Amino acid sequence: MNCLQERIVRDGIVKEGNVLKVDSFLNHQMDINLFNEMGLEWKKRFQGKNITKILTIEASGIGIACVVAQHFGVPVVFAKKSQSINLEGEMYTAEVESFTHKKKNQVIVSKKFLDKNDHVLLIDDFLANGCALLGLIQIVHSAGATVEGIGIAVEKGFQTGGRIIRNLGYQLESLAIVDQMDHLTGEIKFRNI
Ligand code: 5GP
Repeated sequence: MNCLQERIVRDGIVKEGNVLKVDSFLNHQMDINLFNEMGLEWKKRFQGKNITKILTIEASGIGIACVVAQHFGVPVVFAKKSQSINLEGEMYTAEVESFTHKKKNQVIVSKKFLDKNDHVLLIDDFLANGCALLGLIQIVHSAGATVEGIGIAVEKGFQTGGRIIRNLGYQLESLAIVDQMDHLTGEIKFRNI
């Protein structure tokens, strides 16, 4: 998926602390044509899978998931960040530590929108240590539903998440995998995929 890599090289900014800033096209200002290309690519990679729902996490996964969902013809559900406790009755819950803010959030999905008949495609913008995805996987399992696959726009391959998720046996399709980046030179090296 070279157009995403090319865009990262052109417009991505490497920040200190292993953060790649892509807010001019991915998670603040959003390039919908690019999201559409990403949707086409994931549709190809998950061909033959019976997907009934796309699940993502607030906030930056939502835009991508909505455009991608048009290629699968299914609804999007997003896990909401919540301060409230005592939601177990009506909600599936998981605890997720934010990579960028280092803050723990409880994330919730209403039991109305996910059940044991669902075959779920997880979508998110970034994969770093895997905390967000593990929370989403926990929610899918609480519902008795099935994770059919995982689509990530940018995986930072030098962090642990990709290995953890692949070792768990999931089909993880990252459209760009950054193996190295340097905030001093701005250089970004991609894995050949
Ligand atoms: P993880 O839970 O895998 O450690 O981190 C994934 C989440 O953290 C993503 O949902 C994403 O919002 C955020 N994130 C992780 N690394 C980066 C990064 O380098 N840049 C940006 N913009 N967000 C990141």
